[in-house]
Amino acid sequence: MRFEYKGVPVSDGIAIARAVVLRPVDIAPDPAEIGPDQVEAELGRFAGALAAAREQIEALAGEAARRLGEEQAEIFSAHLSVLEDPVLEETIQDKIAQERHNAPYAIAEGIEEIAALFAQLRDPYLQERAADIRDVGRRILENAAGVARVELSCLPEDCIVAARDLTPSETVSMDFAHTLGFVTELGGRTSHTAIISRSLEIPAVVGTAGVLEHLAGGETVILDALDGCVVVNPEPEELERYAQKRQEFLRGREALGALRELPAQARDGKCFELCANIGGPGDLAGAVKYGAQGVGLYRTELLYMNDTHFPDEEAQFAAYREVAAEMGAQRPVIVRTLDIGGDKALPYYAFEPEENPFLGWRAIRMCLDRTDLFKTQLRAILRAGVFGKLRIMFPMIISLDELLAAKGLLEECKEELRARDVPFQADIEVGIMVETPAAVMMADVLAEHVDFFSIGTNDLTQYTLAVDRGNPRIAARYDPLHPAVLRSIKRVIDASHAAGKWTGMCGELAGDVRAAVLLAGMGLDEFSMTASSIPGVKKQLREMYLSDAQALAGLALRASTADGVRRLIGPREGI
Ligand code: PEP
Ligand code: MG
Repeated sequence: MRFEYKGVPVSDGIAIARAVVLRPVDIAPDPAEIGPDQVEAELGRFAGALAAAREQIEALAGEAARRLGEEQAEIFSAHLSVLEDPVLEETIQDKIAQERHNAPYAIAEGIEEIAALFAQLRDPYLQERAADIRDVGRRILENAAGVARVELSCLPEDCIVAARDLTPSETVSMDFAHTLGFVTELGGRTSHTAIISRSLEIPAVVGTAGVLEHLAGGETVILDALDGCVVVNPEPEELERYAQKRQEFLRGREALGALRELPAQARDGKCFELCANIGGPGDLAGAVKYGAQGVGLYRTELLYMNDTHFPDEEAQFAAYREVAAEMGAQRPVIVRTLDIGGDKALPYYAFEPEENPFLGWRAIRMCLDRTDLFKTQLRAILRAGVFGKLRIMFPMIISLDELLAAKGLLEECKEELRARDVPFQADIEVGIMVETPAAVMMADVLAEHVDFFSIGTNDLTQYTLAVDRGNPRIAARYDPLHPAVLRSIKRVIDASHAAGKWTGMCGELAGDVRAAVLLAGMGLDEFSMTASSIPGVKKQLREMYLSDAQALAGLALRASTADGVRRLIGPREGI
């Protein structure tokens, strides 16, 4: 039967393929005691589940190494070493033989006991084992309970991945070569599914409430991520119509490619910098392809999330050097220091639960407490800068004290490298992300101590409006065109200019074609976005006169509501 759903289109494109559904099954093993005659059978069941897990993980490691590279395969080596741990095997066997539990119950209990022990340890390298143990334990449990697992890291054919939501660690291990589209029930424009799908140019529709009700997996799905529409089991006539619409979209995208070599210059001469947001070296090809003049945001947390422990200085140096060298001295790269916590977890580090994680121990707050981790990263960035041109940017700053403390640690790192006789980029520029109302209000003070600002509208909107950026219930209130946000942006730009500094923007608003003229008119110097959005924004900027844009911005800043702003910039949906 045919079903149609509406959602939020967050990464342009159209995909037609069969659905693969990611739906973790709730396994509730029976705690009842087993009879002595059942012990042997349950021990056999456990041994079978363990052997099957080993085979599955070995196959995945091979596939991951072949398709995604050795680095991605490493997580599976860690999983294999968990399987080989005799303590784990003996603990579960004891629970079956001595405590008389059936295999699934013994596995669930045994795994949680051991994982909890590791999670309590202070050493992050040992804590990381807890995540591995739980992951492997879930696999053994599924085998014992006869529950099939959907393997997203090794998809057999092209498909559209459907899920309630996708966590960063799920997407990190996903087989993107066979993922033609994403549809999720939760999420908004700035959710991680959205950001990752845009950077990989995979069409995605999020916030598609109820779609999983009619998806078991294997159904044909049309994903229209231009209009935010998802059709399950479409009619033959629709399939044809959408295949045509897809071709038209691809032709249009190619036409925008012709702008690649042209500058982002307004008709009356003003030039803007258009840069790419990246999550790692893998995104550079896209940045270069779409003509990015640099990287305005390198989200280094992905390097940390895609690992089994905190990456050391050498591992980080290798990644940053690759990015610096690839972009070269003419295309600067802004490296954001670790922005973890809030909604971004690490598989190997147990953050203490907090009442309000978005207001909690995250980003620069964590780095200023864990100076060992922070300085490791700063040294790696400084060293890599020699191979191109890097800039450093601190996230979530709320005060001059934090900025000065971070800069002080940077100077310490320079001293250490000097003492070690290691070459580094001594003249590295330092900036901050403006993501908090505090940074907006203090922009004049902060501007004296930075080389640049970059406005993170994803968080700035969240904190200015006190609207959780990931909560679908209040998604309509999350509006970067709210006059409070626009006035904040203007205040920051003016403060930086008064101090002779420049301001960029790396939140999602910077890549929204419908806001480009308005932001240009407000004086924004640099726009950093998903690489594939660059041609569309460039087209807007090349077609405008700066004087018109300034007049428009003047009116928008006097508007009393977001709808008033929208009326000024045209009949636009989606921002
Ligand atoms: C932002 O907050 O606008 C931003 C770019 O950072 P992130 O989306 O990674 O929080
Ligand atoms: Mg942010």
